[in-house]
Amino acid sequence: MSSAAKPQVWFLTGSQHLYGADTLEQVASQSQQIQRMLTESGRLSVELVWRPVLTDSTAIRDVLLAANGDPSCVGVIAWMHTFSPAKMWITGLDVLRKPLLHLHTQLNEALPWSSIDMDFMNLNQAAHGDREFGYIQTRLGVARKTVAGHALDPEVVRRIDEWARAATGAHHLRGLRLARFGDNMRDVAVTEGDKVEAELRFGVSVNTYGVNDLVAEVDSVADDEVDLLVADYADVYRLGQDLARGGARHESLRYAARIEAGLRRFLTEGGFGAFTTNFQDLGGLRQLPGLAVQRLMADGYGFGGEGDWKTSALLAAVKAMGTGTGLGTSFMEDYTYHFGPGMPKILGAHMLEVCPSVAAARPSCEIHPLGIGDREDPVRLVFDAAPGPAVVVGLADIGDRFRLVANDIEVVPPDEPLPNLPVARAVWQPAPNLRTSAECWLTAGGPHHTVLSQAVGSAVLRDFAQMVDTELVLIDAATTTEAFADRLRWNQAYHRLAQGLR
Ligand code: MN
Repeated sequence: MSSAAKPQVWFLTGSQHLYGADTLEQVASQSQQIQRMLTESGRLSVELVWRPVLTDSTAIRDVLLAANGDPSCVGVIAWMHTFSPAKMWITGLDVLRKPLLHLHTQLNEALPWSSIDMDFMNLNQAAHGDREFGYIQTRLGVARKTVAGHALDPEVVRRIDEWARAATGAHHLRGLRLARFGDNMRDVAVTEGDKVEAELRFGVSVNTYGVNDLVAEVDSVADDEVDLLVADYADVYRLGQDLARGGARHESLRYAARIEAGLRRFLTEGGFGAFTTNFQDLGGLRQLPGLAVQRLMADGYGFGGEGDWKTSALLAAVKAMGTGTGLGTSFMEDYTYHFGPGMPKILGAHMLEVCPSVAAARPSCEIHPLGIGDREDPVRLVFDAAPGPAVVVGLADIGDRFRLVANDIEVVPPDEPLPNLPVARAVWQPAPNLRTSAECWLTAGGPHHTVLSQAVGSAVLRDFAQMVDTELVLIDAATTTEAFADRLRWNQAYHRLAQGLR
């Protein structure tokens, strides 16, 4: 799932011929310096690729078409050094399909007050060159993020990287293939959705496979493959005596390993980056996949329970956004509340499938009965999620469009140990408080399945939502129930107008 090479973002510089060849050489040199400053910050999750200075509409259109067609390019950054008359950018911006960031900057941090002359002024005039570029983007209705400031400012680099991570996630989603084993859980509404619209909007292709196609893979896994995985489990997790070699339930662990190997092969051979399961449709599987799903999520695969392909696709995208942070992202479900005493909290979990990338400590590999699924006891990893700031985000199909609902949260340790809870879980305090968070989430029609991420924050999700042209409503420290309800009404009007008569 993970690729060695960093995704690329192209760094484009606009100028013109008005001031002569010498000036254009200086422009090229200065834009390369800015590209190096940003790269040498060490804080960019993408490779910033410098491209030759652009001075006419043909070159601009050509480079933006090339960006569209280059599979390693996830987006473009544009900066108008000197003055780049913006009519040159019209046909190029019109064909651009990759995310755009407008970087409004200049090479010098301080003005050279005592030596400044007209040559300096003519060279360093992004202050108005970028205004010309801002005008044409707005005139054409081009979606973009605008970041202003000096390349050595960590805040500037951070905001560029948020956009770059969002672009990486959007790019991953655009080529994503998702396999569903079985349909959605019967009678559940929120996990349904328009798969045709999803493929147009996000690029993800969602298709169903018979669960017994998976069973055939699981049953054909060789014993030595199982041996290797079981040894790995004993290495990586705290393994109960009953599951260990020679233990009474060891055969169940071997079957869990068999599911992992078979599922992994099915996904690899089909080129899938995400999948769903449904406990109502397990065919010849002897256990509901738990451990296997947890380990595949940890490797970057998207997953949704009960056939929830929207959350699975979103999880795959958010995992791509968080690459290299060392922090986790998981499938999650709002389960039950602690209204008090103390700060109100949400206990999130799922039947089995929480990703160990969010674990606070080494997970425990255990086997317990499961009331649903009507199969043998499933093996699963049990742990508490690591404390710290995080975000939860859900994707709902509200009929005429998709809506992302997100909430800034703080994952906290459980108030007390949970010795009788045999699943992985996260406890969190939602911003601004549980009451407002829950009221807003419900008013927005947000789903109970979410993606919980400690690797990316809501700023990345905001950039992502713009890239995939999808509504995002965020519940954060400043949210009130009343203002949020108003925002939903205004958004409703905006998004219906923006769709036009199609
Ligand atoms: Mn569920």
